[in-house]
Amino acid sequence: MLRADVLAMSAYHVPAADGFVKLDAMENPYPLPDALRDAFARRLAAVPLNRYPVPDYAALKAAIRDRFGVPAACGLILGNGSDELISLLSVATARPGAVVLSAWPSFVMYQVSAQLAGSRFVGVPLAPGFGLDRAAMLAAIEREAPALVYLSYPNNPTGACFDDGVIRDILAAAPGLVVIDEAYQPFAPRTWMPALERHPDLLVMRTVSKLGLAGLRLGFMAGAPDWIGQLDKVRPPYNVNVLTEAAALFALEHHAVFDAQAAAIRAERAVLADRLARLPGVEVFASDANFLLLRVPQAPAVWQALRDRRVLVKDVGRMHASLHDCLRITVGAPQENATLLAALDEILVQRPGGSPPEGPRPGSDGAHPTTP
Ligand code: PMP
Repeated sequence: MLRADVLAMSAYHVPAADGFVKLDAMENPYPLPDALRDAFARRLAAVPLNRYPVPDYAALKAAIRDRFGVPAACGLILGNGSDELISLLSVATARPGAVVLSAWPSFVMYQVSAQLAGSRFVGVPLAPGFGLDRAAMLAAIEREAPALVYLSYPNNPTGACFDDGVIRDILAAAPGLVVIDEAYQPFAPRTWMPALERHPDLLVMRTVSKLGLAGLRLGFMAGAPDWIGQLDKVRPPYNVNVLTEAAALFALEHHAVFDAQAAAIRAERAVLADRLARLPGVEVFASDANFLLLRVPQAPAVWQALRDRRVLVKDVGRMHASLHDCLRITVGAPQENATLLAALDEILVQRPGGSPPEGPRPGSDGAHPTTP
């Protein structure tokens, strides 16, 4: 017998993207450069596939520590994507009455994962403009005594980093763990990684996904060795496979390539934000990530019209009332962004009589607003 809540859930829907300009999942648009492919293939070919991974992942952890500035005194845990780390956190903190809290709207998996583990999820609405609501966060922390607080920094889907002063107040007030999820750090001006030394109940979570390695599925989390040691008990021992391990080591040796791609995306973000903001009726929110949140009149119809033009973006309007008429658009390569802008120009500017687009067509698959 399956659980009633599982039966009532809908599956994580990923729309088919063949032949589309794919700007819906915050991927890096740039592939591994051709010049690196032979060396990469040789490295993978040498991996002993007949053996289990060595579960301490010593070489990969050393490379991550070095590359991402993990303080020497901290512990480090790896996950099959940061998605898995979120699951481990849920399992480790769940007990009757446990609360997981996050500023909201934010990354949907904080909620899904906590609820699947049996915890109660509390989303504290963001302030107007999508900053943290300091008073509301502190009141909710006092009231709920959460086992776990998540802060996505920068926040998905709104885009900007939260105010550091408010985060410091949250750290001082929270009775349990505070996880700062820095999935979008390659595009952000700040990080909490060095602050781990001053905050014993803080964990900083990262991923290589947005850096250009989403297919590898590798996330990591740093924090006080005690906390990390406890979480490591919950981790399946071989959760990171040998090919991911070898590929990530290779990528970290060639980090300059990925750093340059991230810099190009940051530069493109500024250009794209500027162009989008010039479109009639479009409001673009500030972003420290590799995506932009925009508000556009009749967003579901614009989403559909983009889809008709083979451009895939994310309609986040139904995620939360504050996101009404909002689309989240990944910053792509210049050519992809140009295609997007040309399509939006057609939809919003060149329509006969300048009338706004019509509502979604009957028969559209309707799946777009439900995915994280
Ligand atoms: N955290 C945030 C804020 C995200 O937006 C995402 C993915 N969209 C993740 C974590 C998960 O990343 P991954 O599992 O690819 O490491």
